[in-house]
Amino acid sequence: RTQDTLLEVNNIEVIYNHVILVLKGVSLNVPKGGITALLGGNGAGKTTTLKAISNLLHSERGEVTKGSILYRGERVQDLNPADLVKKGVIQVMEGRHCFEHLTVEENLLTGAYTRPDKGAIAADLEMVYTYFPRLKERRKSQAGYTSGGEQQMTAIGRALMSRPETILLDEPSMGLAPQLVEQIFEIVKSVNENEGVTFLLAEQNTNVALRYAHYGYILESGRIVMDGPAADLRENPDVKEFYLGMA
Ligand code: ATP
Repeated sequence: RTQDTLLEVNNIEVIYNHVILVLKGVSLNVPKGGITALLGGNGAGKTTTLKAISNLLHSERGEVTKGSILYRGERVQDLNPADLVKKGVIQVMEGRHCFEHLTVEENLLTGAYTRPDKGAIAADLEMVYTYFPRLKERRKSQAGYTSGGEQQMTAIGRALMSRPETILLDEPSMGLAPQLVEQIFEIVKSVNENEGVTFLLAEQNTNVALRYAHYGYILESGRIVMDGPAADLRENPDVKEFYLGMA
């Protein structure tokens, strides 16, 4: 473990329903201050990996049966998700998951629920609005009636309201037009640079993810088949052929 590793996943195995082996020994390192991408096609196990880290598998009858997950060197796989949030790790689920009947602003405020310092919350709301000016315009709208892109922004904004050290971001590009995808990744990049937030993001869109991430892991059928600095992966002939469609 290097000194600046925040999150360390060591050779984990995940089984659903006691029989379906989905992760077959996945290891990865997430350094502090970086953007790390977990890449791979549909069903490769990206979501399962993120849920294993944030302990969200139980409700789906999944469990980590081997390996370990450490955050700042401390074993976290037996914590409940709320305790992990207190340690600074928050997951933005695939498919955005806003509270549809609440306004955009109310959604953002729910992200601050674990925090005692109510005074700082107003300032953080403004911080979120500087990254997402569109959300400020839409703050009184019912979230369920906002666009897919706005809901994705709301989900990320809500995560930021907990002042996380690390965000686990599941498939931010899903269902969004290319221009919006680019916009979301630009915001991720500036949050990373300006707030120092560490990201682990799961993405099927290899092309965009490798342009913004510093390091990438490629998952195939529950195994990491390749990893390296994003710049190297972009130039790798196999990645070009199978993931970037540039054969
Ligand atoms: P996607 O982009 O479609 O979300 P993914 O890489 O995130 O893909 P996972 O959602 O982690 O993949 O799924 C990995 C495998 O685990 C798939 O074969 C999927 O069918 C299976 N799986 C996921 N959830 C469950 C579950 N609750 N019970 C049984 N099998 C599951």
